[in-house]
Amino acid sequence: MTRARVPRPHEVQAAHHDPRLMRARMERPDNDSWRVRGRCRTVDPETFFPPPTEPADVAVSLCRRCPVQGACLAAALDAGDGNGVWGATTPRERRAMLVAWRNDPVPVGASAKG
Ligand code: SF4
Repeated sequence: MTRARVPRPHEVQAAHHDPRLMRARMERPDNDSWRVRGRCRTVDPETFFPPPTEPADVAVSLCRRCPVQGACLAAALDAGDGNGVWGATTPRERRAMLVAWRNDPVPVGASAKG
């Protein structure tokens, strides 16, 4: 296992403006009902946990077409989940997003969709 390095300031700054993180802020759920709508429910779970040396393109592509992508990423960031692909992000991408997420919290259920 390799040790995850701390994200650099410019990576955290970029994460603040990442459209995936912005969507997660807009769609942060206040319950787990989004889980039943995930596209991954009909896909082998291993697809979303590729070995660190393997590309995650297939999983990320599936996530990008998922209707609950924002809620999924918000849940992963709330949980601090460092494994697998969630909300079209890899663990490496989420490290910087996690710092941005924690530095700029959004209330649970503060969805712009009402
Ligand atoms: S965004 Fe990806 S991991 Fe999350 S529910 Fe959708 S398909 Fe599954």
